[in-house]
Amino acid sequence: MAISKKTVKDIDIKGKKIVMRVDFNVPLKDGVIQDDTRIVAALPTIKYILEQDVKHLVLMSHLGDPKKDTKKAKEKAEKDGKPFDEKAFIEGKHRMAPVAAHLAKLLARDVKLAPGCTDEETKKMVASLQSGEVMLLENTRFNKEETSKDAAEREAMAKDLATYGDIYVNDAFGTAHRAHASTETVAHFLPAVAGFLMEKELEFLQEKIVKNPTKPFVAIIGGAKVSSKIAVLESLLSKVDKIIIGGGMAYTFLKSKGISVGKSLIEDDMLDTARTVLQKASEKNVQINLPVDHIATREFSPEAESDQVNGEAIDEGWMGMDIGPATIENFKSALAGAKTVFWNGPMGVFEFPRFAAGTQAIAKSLAELNDAITVIGGGDSVSAVKKAGTADKMSHISTGGGASLELVEGKELPGVKALNDK
Ligand code: AMP
Repeated sequence: MAISKKTVKDIDIKGKKIVMRVDFNVPLKDGVIQDDTRIVAALPTIKYILEQDVKHLVLMSHLGDPKKDTKKAKEKAEKDGKPFDEKAFIEGKHRMAPVAAHLAKLLARDVKLAPGCTDEETKKMVASLQSGEVMLLENTRFNKEETSKDAAEREAMAKDLATYGDIYVNDAFGTAHRAHASTETVAHFLPAVAGFLMEKELEFLQEKIVKNPTKPFVAIIGGAKVSSKIAVLESLLSKVDKIIIGGGMAYTFLKSKGISVGKSLIEDDMLDTARTVLQKASEKNVQINLPVDHIATREFSPEAESDQVNGEAIDEGWMGMDIGPATIENFKSALAGAKTVFWNGPMGVFEFPRFAAGTQAIAKSLAELNDAITVIGGGDSVSAVKKAGTADKMSHISTGGGASLELVEGKELPGVKALNDK
C-alpha cells in the first residue's frame, strides 16, 4: 500500500539543489561511531539523489542533544568527583566530523563538512558547491533555534536552511515526531518530499499496522512502565485481536488483578488505568496475555541470584525480572497464526544476560511465524532481535523508537504532516 505523501520519486529532481534532513544521530564514543545503522539506512535515498545528476546535496542532522547531554555528564562528573572537560565532551560526542568521514567512505566520494548550519561561512560553502557535490552541515542542535519553542526563531533558521535547496527531502523518520526547524518548519518553504527510509517506515507503521493490519493482529508490549505505553495500548485496543504484555509493566497489571508481585517494578498510580485497559479489552473481545510465571531475584543486579517462580504470584522480597518458561509457551501460542505482529519493549531486564531469555525467545518465535508481517517498533526490541540473530527475518525494524510509538498511538507526526501530499 502506497503512502499518501510524495516521495523523492514523485518529482523531477534532475539538476536541482537538494537539502535533505537525515537521522545521523549515531552513538559516538570519543569521536568513534559505535553503530552506523542510521547512516546506512539513509544510503538508498542519498544514492538515488546523486544518480539523478542533482546540482548539489546538502545533508543535515542532529547528533545527540549537546545542551542536555553536557548538563547530565557534568552533573555525573561532579557527583563522582571527577574533572569535566566540556569542550572535549562536545568534540567527542556531538561533532559531525566522524559522521562525514564515515559517509564519505560508504559513498566512496568526497563529503564536505560545514562549520555550522546557518553561519556566513557555511552559506558561502554551500554557494560554492560544484555540480553533484555532497555536503554535511554541522549538528543542527548547535543552533538553539532548531528546537526553539518560539515559532519565529524556528522559522528564521528554517528560512536559511531553505536557501540551500530547491527541494527539501526528509528521510529522518526517527525525529519526525519533533516539530523542529530542520524536520518540520523548513518543509513549509520548499517543495517537500519523503525519502525512501521515511517511505518504508510509513508504509509499514502507518499503512500495515495503523490503517490496514491483516488479521489476526497481535501486539507485544513490554518495557519498564505502563505510563509510557498507555497511549499505545489504548490505541491498539481497537485494532488488535490479542495483546501480549511482558516486562516490568506486566507487574502493575498483575497487581491490579489482586495478584501479589513482591517488590517487582510497580506504578501504583497506574493501577486504575491498568484495570480500565483490562476492562476495555474484555468489552472489545481483545485477548490479553499476561505472565503466568517468572524469573525473579532479590536484588536488581546482573550478578544477583535468580529463581524460577511457578505461578503468577511473587513472594515478598522478590522481584520479577523476566517471564518464565510457561509464559514463553503461552506467548508463543498466542502468536501462532498471527498475520500481523507489532512489538515494542523487552519482556524482561534483557540487558542482564540472566534475564534475557524471555525477550530472546519472543525474538526467535517472531522469526518462525509463517507469512506474517512483523514490525519491530524501535528501541530495545531492536537490540533484542539483533542479539537473537533474527533481525533479517523481520518485515520491518523501525529506526525510530519514539516516532514509531507515536504513530501507532494514532498521532500525526509533524515532520510527516508537513510533507506534500501525493
Ligand atoms: P522501555 O524503554 O519502556 O521499553 O523499557 C525498557 C526497559 O525496561 C529496559 O531497560 C528493561 O531493563 C526494563 N525492564 C523490562 N522488564 C523489566 C522488569 N521486569 N523489571 C524492571 N525493568 C524491566
